[in-house]
Amino acid sequence: MTLQELQTQVQQTRRDILRMVHAVNSGHPGGSLGCAEFLTALYGNVMTHSTDFSMDGKNEDLFFLSNGHISPVFYSVLARSGYFPVEELNTFRKLNTRLQGHPTTHEGLPGVRIASGSLGQGLSVAIGAALAKKLNNDDKLVYTLHGDGELQEGQVWEALMFAAGKNVDNIIATVDYNGRQIDGDTDHVLPLGDLKAKFEAFGWVVLDEPKGNDLEAILAVLAQAKSLTGQGKPVAILLHTEMGNGVDFMMGTHAWHGKAPSDDQLASALEQNPVTELGDY
Ligand SMILES: [Mg+2]
Repeated sequence: MTLQELQTQVQQTRRDILRMVHAVNSGHPGGSLGCAEFLTALYGNVMTHSTDFSMDGKNEDLFFLSNGHISPVFYSVLARSGYFPVEELNTFRKLNTRLQGHPTTHEGLPGVRIASGSLGQGLSVAIGAALAKKLNNDDKLVYTLHGDGELQEGQVWEALMFAAGKNVDNIIATVDYNGRQIDGDTDHVLPLGDLKAKFEAFGWVVLDEPKGNDLEAILAVLAQAKSLTGQGKPVAILLHTEMGNGVDFMMGTHAWHGKAPSDDQLASALEQNPVTELGDY
């Protein structure tokens, strides 16, 4: 996709996120908006993947969403990438939907390979998938996304240690480094310290990207990360993002981590992100 096409899809995905969460008065818009550029770029231009979905995903790149609460952006990007009809976004969080508040596998939604929402588990699963690819002589990569607050879960650090210790060098783990979590700033809730130094101390190659909501910067850092795979070490990206990006009153605060906009707030947010040629679901 061209940069313009990616940007158009980002804007449409912002509208999807806002409308989905507003429609059911629940869900997580803040982190979803902060990762709209990343996921759009990843699925649009970076991963080799097939919308003809198979759970084992042989010979294609895989993505695992560990911070499952940002399901609105995940579902929007999957739908807009062709995994399922965009109209189905209309069922988000409704009874018996395939689009559960947190992704699950038993509804069979194409594109979802892991139940997530219980934080801290995604990296472990992804490492297993990456090792399976090695056993299968499958040279494709495994991508993951994690919240920064999620790094307070101990299992993440067990997984980081394991990946480096076992030379799992076909994985690229990205941290949504927005400095915020549901109860406040990460520095206030439980400081993460020097994340780059910590990941490096655990044996990872670490890229720090300050412009985590800039499509060109995201594409560049993902390309760099990809070039560093296959060299014996797992690769991490610290992606500095803005929670609530693209909606003025949702930025600069953790308040919209898990809260839906009112009718008036939705109108204001959509006015800031006009409908694109892709159309609303
Ligand atoms: Mg965060």
